[in-house]
Amino acid sequence: MNLETQLTKLFRTTDAQKKALARMGLRTAKDLLYYFPARYGDFSKLSYIKDIQKGEQPIIYAEVTHISMKNAWKTKMSMTEATLKDSEGQTIKAVWYSQPYIAKMLPVGSAAKFMGTVNERSGKPYLANPEYDLIDKIPVDKSGDLFAEDKQELLLYPVYRETRGITSKWLYHKVKKLVADGALENLTDPLPKEILKKYNLPSLASALVYIHAPKKMADADAARKRFAFEEVFFIQLVKQDQKQAYKESGAFIITPEEKTLRRYKDALGFTLTNGQEEATNQILADIGSETPMSRLLEGDVGSGKTVVAGLAAYATATTKPTGQSFGHLQVGYMAPTEILAKQIYADFVELLGGLGISVGLITGKECYKFPSKTSAGPVKLSKPALKKMVANGEIQVLVGTHALISKGVFFENLGLVIIDEQHRFGKKQRAALRAKPQEKKDAEKEKTKSKIQKKGLIDNTEILPHLLSMTATPIPRTLALTIYGDLDLTVLDEMPPGRKKVDTKLVDPTQEARESAYESIREELRAGRQLYVICPRIFEADSSKATSLLVKSAVAEAKRLSKEVFPEYKIGVLHSKLKKEEKNEVMDKFSRHEYDILVSTTVVEVGVNVPNATNIIIEGAERYGLSQLHQLRGRVIRSTHQPYCYLFADVKSDTTRERLDALTTAKNGFELAEYDLQFRGTGEMMGNKQSGVSDLAMEAIKNIKLVEAARTEAKNMIESKSIANYPTLNKYFEYVKENMYLE
Ligand code: ADP
Ligand code: MG
Repeated sequence: MNLETQLTKLFRTTDAQKKALARMGLRTAKDLLYYFPARYGDFSKLSYIKDIQKGEQPIIYAEVTHISMKNAWKTKMSMTEATLKDSEGQTIKAVWYSQPYIAKMLPVGSAAKFMGTVNERSGKPYLANPEYDLIDKIPVDKSGDLFAEDKQELLLYPVYRETRGITSKWLYHKVKKLVADGALENLTDPLPKEILKKYNLPSLASALVYIHAPKKMADADAARKRFAFEEVFFIQLVKQDQKQAYKESGAFIITPEEKTLRRYKDALGFTLTNGQEEATNQILADIGSETPMSRLLEGDVGSGKTVVAGLAAYATATTKPTGQSFGHLQVGYMAPTEILAKQIYADFVELLGGLGISVGLITGKECYKFPSKTSAGPVKLSKPALKKMVANGEIQVLVGTHALISKGVFFENLGLVIIDEQHRFGKKQRAALRAKPQEKKDAEKEKTKSKIQKKGLIDNTEILPHLLSMTATPIPRTLALTIYGDLDLTVLDEMPPGRKKVDTKLVDPTQEARESAYESIREELRAGRQLYVICPRIFEADSSKATSLLVKSAVAEAKRLSKEVFPEYKIGVLHSKLKKEEKNEVMDKFSRHEYDILVSTTVVEVGVNVPNATNIIIEGAERYGLSQLHQLRGRVIRSTHQPYCYLFADVKSDTTRERLDALTTAKNGFELAEYDLQFRGTGEMMGNKQSGVSDLAMEAIKNIKLVEAARTEAKNMIESKSIANYPTLNKYFEYVKENMYLE
């Protein structure tokens, strides 16, 4: 056997089991060894029969003293009844329905661990359909001989995620068989011994034993820590490697004069916050060097990222290419949707256009440029015309959607790329924008060369543009350091002054509480404001089903509101089943105030800025992560009116209340993201699927020390190139580099 051997070759499986294994993605011995228990049961929570109460789910050790099967007279359903006796001599009945083979599996005299629910019949407790695990003989008692000898071993047992056809017990036995058959004998550990020793981590073989069959919880913890470290370490290696590769490319040196920066800042009409000043300084230091910047700017919506990006763009657009006494560098700014691209375009025409910078817009549909001779504002032009102006450098700043990275959009001297809401783009798309100079080179190799020679221009196609990525998705620092490990991080964690704080209220699910909230909102509607109602996300395995449920909930809620609560107001509904034009129409009507209320599901991106909508109701608020709630309520802070957020939540426990209360106290989204991470796990805030990080590593991301250790080790290894000294590690690294799917 080796680790790549198919499981179906290693042990007999039924068709149902084969299907189940395929469904779980378990093909090879290795897959199974790396299928880790979701948790551990604890035998020390053993019960004695005399203590058993109705409704409990005890675990008991007992011997079978009697067992018989009969068919129910009417239903013909088989029923097996057994009498179980524990080490104290007490007995209890156990009953199994429709499991005719039980009597064979548990003959009189056999001993097992039983787990089941206690029911009662004629006042007598019995175990209904208990699970069992055969053992050689029952322990005398917890402190008795049997336990004394191998006490620890009996205490913990692994619990695996099951699927139809495969039980946790089955999985455990198969793992044991693999180990017994020597699966761990020829393992090579990708982690160097020094690292294991330094961080006190078990070797690969030990960790595999510990994770499946821990003798004590500390072993299981150590194993999990090791695998988490390994995963984060390899992610960091890949990211640090990318970072190193960027560093080895050249970049334009952008060092704007003080008066240039002054001109931009003076035109703003407000002073930058300390956070913005700091971010600006970091960015200027980055772009002032010949190694390309790779920086991520994180900040809540409205924290002033665009203004910072505008300054970087201005500095770039007013700089001449290195070694050239004429012309200027260009900026490409990519936004994820047309609406956002247009918004940014308008912002940039205002911020930069006024300072004499030419700004273009390219989307799938249309192109604009500013300034123009024929109009005071931006004018439309054809795509080829715009492309030409970008290629010859006339357009200094080009804003766009994905259209920006389409083939044949070439810049003359791309100095800076800015990616807005970077998580909304794939790695490939982000790389494509950055690789524009390379693409240009490949496409026009000869042509460019001759042109360069003719004009006497410098050949700058080896130069990588500086990269400024931005995101408003608040994620905890450790997670950012992991999945964005190739980027340097700047966090804008303060809001510009004078911003109104959203008045956030937790509304209990009582009728009175609801009605009083509706009354407060009615006041606002009467005063001319508008309202969003966000309908609950319903967790449902089948996504098509989930969508239809969501649609129903939004549609039904809109109906209810218009009939019972706000009959005097116009209500629009937005959900994902609407066609694109229908969605746009609803949004347009809402922004023109033809609707007072917009009922929407969260699946629908409300990308439009409706400053007059200053109220938001979030139904089922307890279902969301805090950072998500924070982003949802971010929709109502776009005007000078006081914004309100009503969290309609079914608060059953104090922890839920405490968690939601954090929304009224936390200073920003990042604080909330940290809160989410500690109290809820990462799954909710940034889907593991989305980030490509396993559940195990996500757990580890709570542990800043571990993340920092993995990052430091990876960084040292890449920078010193010492990775070559570790053949196993290096081989594994090459493999991971090719196959890792992140984001
Ligand atoms: P973000 O891109 O982070 O969502 P923006 O840069 O678009 O934020 O800024 C949001 C709003 O706040 C804009 O109208 C902008 O003009 C304004 N703004 C940004 N920085 C400041 C500041 N320091 N003082 C006052 N207003 C600011
Ligand atoms: Mg912005």
